[in-house]
Amino acid sequence: MTQHQAVVYRGATVITGAEGGPVIPSADLVVDEGRIVAVGPAGTADSGGEVVDLGGRFVMPAIINPHVHIGYMRDGFEDAAHYSRENILDHLRRFAYHGVGVVQSLGTDRDDTELALREEQRSGELRETGLATLYTAGTGLVAPTPGSTNGGAHFAADVLREVTDPEAARREVRALAAKRVDVVKFWLDSRNGTKAKMEPPVYRAIIDQAHREGLRVIAHIHDLDDAKGVIRTGVDGTAHLVREPGPDRELIDLLLERDVFMFTSLGIQRGITLGAALLDDPFLAETVTETERDVLREQLKAAPEQVVRYMTGVYRTLRDEVKELVAAGVRLVLSADTGLSSQFPGFAEHFELASMVDAGMTPAQAIDAGTAQAARVLGIERLQGTLAAGKKADFVVLAANPLDDIVHTRRIVDVHLAGERVDRQGLRARWTA
Ligand SMILES: [Zn+2]
Repeated sequence: MTQHQAVVYRGATVITGAEGGPVIPSADLVVDEGRIVAVGPAGTADSGGEVVDLGGRFVMPAIINPHVHIGYMRDGFEDAAHYSRENILDHLRRFAYHGVGVVQSLGTDRDDTELALREEQRSGELRETGLATLYTAGTGLVAPTPGSTNGGAHFAADVLREVTDPEAARREVRALAAKRVDVVKFWLDSRNGTKAKMEPPVYRAIIDQAHREGLRVIAHIHDLDDAKGVIRTGVDGTAHLVREPGPDRELIDLLLERDVFMFTSLGIQRGITLGAALLDDPFLAETVTETERDVLREQLKAAPEQVVRYMTGVYRTLRDEVKELVAAGVRLVLSADTGLSSQFPGFAEHFELASMVDAGMTPAQAIDAGTAQAARVLGIERLQGTLAAGKKADFVVLAANPLDDIVHTRRIVDVHLAGERVDRQGLRARWTA
């Protein structure tokens, strides 16, 4: 047995992310056995032990994204045929490469593949390191649309659990609880009047049963009235902001009264409005080949003008909404809806941070929403989301200060997950060979 010894990361400006947000210049960050032992000003660490010089660097907590659809994207687009354990692992590597330490997959698991992988990761049976930690809702619930596919995620409509009455809803939730999902997800969206929407008594049963089982519930919503409906019924959070027509005072009061969080999910709209500009981003080119980007480039070119105009309008609504909700003190949480359209795993999280700032949040608020607040949503705030003694050593080393400009979160020098340095160079070589 080799004797383990603490490593002191010395000299960086550490953005701890802790409440009140102390930023420590020239810090000592001491890591041992995957945990942070101490973090403080120079001199915090006792002498001795290995010292890594991080002078001139910036350190922030690893990003946490509680809204991904893992396993579907490959070769530039999402498809059920791409879904596999190997593709899920590839995505978990991509998250880690980009400094995303934890992700939660929201309701698009096939054959319990994600649940099985999560168990192996939790038990340590899965030996591979350099992966983001997976949480999952398993398979989510949706209303059936007679004569058509349901209004859930289009790439997973075939596996979503369709429920028509409260009894069936409770049965499904009990089954999910037996599989020990991390959260329950359901969809409530007419997809522009083309799909059936779940009736209130059905989602009331889902929420009530989930809470009886000790599980949180996240609802995919699109419209203002549905957002109010699920919040009044006790939902813990929504997977999106209100896209039509936008929020009103009553919604804000409900969110505050009931301490409900909303996921930002801005990038999914913004990506479509940016089109080619997004795909030419050198940060994306680091891990996604030209060929793969061309596939999406063609898709975006083929998008009907009315869709682009619609998405541009929605993005404008969302930007105003972010300003209003932040000013009111509503809990906003980073959500990149990663794994579809322009939302490439790992890239999408940084794109979302930048979109949040584009919508009026400060870089510090955006980082908080993608670290400490996201950890709270997952119930892992005791161990993750901030950099403090006793927490998991999940952190990102940056070449420039993200508090000055949020795009500096992309200037990644190193990623450490559970104290271990991710082999970013090796991963990049694999993706761009
Ligand atoms: Zn989603």
